[in-house]
Amino acid sequence: MAKMNPNFTKLKKNYLFIEISKRITDFTKANPDAAKNLIRMGIGDVTRPLVPAVVEAGKKAFDELAVKETFRGYEDSGRGYDFLREAISGYYKDFGAEVPADEIFVSDGAKSDSGNIGDIFADDSVVLVTDPAYPVYVDSSIMGGKTVVYASSDESNGFAAMPENFKGSQTPDIIYLCSPNNPTGSAYTREQLKSWVDYAAANKSIIIYDAAYEAFITESDKPRSIFTVEGARKVAIEIASLSKTAGFTGTRCGYTVVPKELTLESPDGETSLFDLWSRRQGSKFNGVSYPVQRAAEAVFTPEGQTQTRETLDYYRKNAEIMQETLTQLGIDFTGGNNSPYVWFKCPNGMDSWEFFDLMLSKANVVGTPGAGFGQNGINRFRLTSFNTHENTREAMERLKKLLLPL
Ligand SMILES: *Cc1c(COP(=O)(O)O)cnc(C)c1O
Repeated sequence: MAKMNPNFTKLKKNYLFIEISKRITDFTKANPDAAKNLIRMGIGDVTRPLVPAVVEAGKKAFDELAVKETFRGYEDSGRGYDFLREAISGYYKDFGAEVPADEIFVSDGAKSDSGNIGDIFADDSVVLVTDPAYPVYVDSSIMGGKTVVYASSDESNGFAAMPENFKGSQTPDIIYLCSPNNPTGSAYTREQLKSWVDYAAANKSIIIYDAAYEAFITESDKPRSIFTVEGARKVAIEIASLSKTAGFTGTRCGYTVVPKELTLESPDGETSLFDLWSRRQGSKFNGVSYPVQRAAEAVFTPEGQTQTRETLDYYRKNAEIMQETLTQLGIDFTGGNNSPYVWFKCPNGMDSWEFFDLMLSKANVVGTPGAGFGQNGINRFRLTSFNTHENTREAMERLKKLLLPL
């Protein structure tokens, strides 16, 4: 009989979103009227539609595919058309990062790249992740047989783990960082990221930097790209996505930057990480659809930037509304400034599932229990700004009503 990959037995049950939807279904069945007022601020999916510049570009590209002269099939490189890679390179230049177009790999999103990148590292690699973290880093590392170690993100460091928060004795080969962070909403300053870059250089580790939320950054001391930090090209790759930046969660497009000077130890010395990733992608990936790449290109035009910024501002306003309420209630939180998430301490010593149930049953608001992201989330709760102003205000009124009499 064919045997399963035994590493899969080491995965934790992926019960977070399953358990959330089960509890919602149970509640809805028992309370059909209250269920009509349910406000969902749990799942990290955007809610505002694609902007007109993006939609027009995508439609136009589809029309080209309908005509013999302009039809396109497989893309030669599978790494993204030049027009899009040049546009991304120009976008980086706007916030001070030198990223040559030929170091950019266009992808179907940051989730697949952040999981697939493990393919090019040895199975016995030690992977450092922050706790809490986006679950993909942990699960994909475990599937590949790698060892996962943790650096604690907690109240002592504003939920932004630093190298000294890793207490283990192993030397990490791979370090996953996510800033602005999902789920904690914290964002590293340039100095903090420099500490990580120096740490990686000293330990000969590779940083996999997830910049999926870079577009939410407003504070100038928080870098939009790790490549604005000195020395980063020698230790880091960066993974980004148009999912949160431009509402591409359903359209699917992201990109990964691999500096050509990065190397990994190999049996005959050192091998270029860029070559390894090219080989991996060439074998298992055939590129992103042409219309989606044209739609993505439109995000980086002046018109696309103006339009997508309006959407980002809309979400920012929601984050502000949540921050105001949490401040009024005297609840400790991180996020909301450079992030669509607020991450706050569950009141009255509740754990995150208890508070989830209370919010669902008494306020009819759905959030995400922090426990789903790691040990350090067991008494924290995540709310997202991907909703309407009206719903966000209403949810905050209900939270106040729920907590003020306590
Ligand atoms: C949403 C998200 C992504 C984006 O994933 P896509 O596959 O591009 O949609 C990546 N990383 C984190 C931490 C995210 O929250």
